[in-house]
Amino acid sequence: MAKIVCVLYPDPVDGQPTIYPRDDVPVLDTYPGGQSLPTPHALDFTPGQLLGSVSGELGLRAFLEGLGHVLVVTADKDGPSSTFERELVDAEIVISQPFWPAYLTADRVAKAPNLKLAITAGIGSDHVDLQAAIDGGITVAEVTFSNSISVSEHVVMMILSLVRNYIPSYQWVVRGGWNIADCVSRAYDVEGMTVGTVGAGRIGSAVLRRLKPFDVDLHYTDRHRLPDDVETDLGLTYHDSVQSLVAVCDVVTINAPLHPETEGMFDDDLIGSMKRGSYIVNTARGKICDRDAIVRALESGQLAGYAGDVWFPQPAPSDHPWRTMAHHGMTPHVSGTTLSAQARYAAGVREILECWFERRPIRDDYLIVDGGRLAGAGAHSYSPGDATRGSEPTP
Ligand code: NAD
Repeated sequence: MAKIVCVLYPDPVDGQPTIYPRDDVPVLDTYPGGQSLPTPHALDFTPGQLLGSVSGELGLRAFLEGLGHVLVVTADKDGPSSTFERELVDAEIVISQPFWPAYLTADRVAKAPNLKLAITAGIGSDHVDLQAAIDGGITVAEVTFSNSISVSEHVVMMILSLVRNYIPSYQWVVRGGWNIADCVSRAYDVEGMTVGTVGAGRIGSAVLRRLKPFDVDLHYTDRHRLPDDVETDLGLTYHDSVQSLVAVCDVVTINAPLHPETEGMFDDDLIGSMKRGSYIVNTARGKICDRDAIVRALESGQLAGYAGDVWFPQPAPSDHPWRTMAHHGMTPHVSGTTLSAQARYAAGVREILECWFERRPIRDDYLIVDGGRLAGAGAHSYSPGDATRGSEPTP
């Protein structure tokens, strides 16, 4: 019998929905490039329903209790007296979502001697101190690709929203105005701009593919160069450093994981080397950007706009400066948790758990840390080390 502690975001303020805007979500055959979707033996939920909140339980309760395991689901995750920290002490498995991260710090790992598996319901496992997981022999797995396309759609939406000044224009309508000059004095076309991505993995390359029809000049940097035919097909320019990339871009989108190489990457110096009036869209992780450097650059006009859905910490405090800074298009961390994405990552979590309990290998694509080292997707996209100290701000 295993104890599984699952940390999910709170239910909607009016309770779990009883009716949804649509009756179904599209059924996908494969991910781009051929990776297969999750393949659990069965599902105990209806795709398209809210699974990522506490009452949704990722659709796992019947399955886990049917095997005799104990499932604890909570949104109470921060501080030493939180339900998460109390329940962690005898847990074998922790499940958490990046949208509402249960920061699994080295301290917390030390308090959980039975902990063997940390599953990210989604993508991006930086809320786990990966060095502590490496040192402690804890397996870390995530549902690779489950929401990469979801995020790429959000990135394209935010690029268009910022450059075309959509949000202020919408607000003029809501306020009863018809202030065309106010709306358009910050509005441009994306056509002809230079757009670059930091990271051209699953999300970054999907953003590039989606932007190609907008007739923009596409650039990227990544520690792995894309195949020649992809570069040719999309007309990509490769940069071997982020400095070289940002110097030529009008719009930069960040799609690399948070790890020691990327933490604090967008600081005053790097932002200062961008073209005046550039835009940044960051749906990767909040700590890749220096919080106050972003605010300063928006105030000075060095940046014309900043949007994204990732913050530090999460949930962001009500006085977080990104809520009120100039020319921003921030949302809470939602891009990867559409109802469509939830169905995929809930199925992927179930697949990982089935593998775990049946002592079958977890797919390599899902592994971040295994056997005391970065493994699978983690070895490809992360560097070892303690990127974040879990819940502490970047020094
Ligand atoms: P991926 O592993 O397919 O791609 C990540 C890419 O980043 C890889 O190609 C890797 O080589 C590259 N990279 C790593 N370090 C780099 C560096 N220093 N400079 C440039 N490139 C570097 O992962 P993905 O599915 O594309 O997701 C990327 C990240 O996006 C996740 O790790 C996560 O942090 C974030 N994400 C956010 C959401 C959301 O809801 N906002 C959802 C999913 C993922």
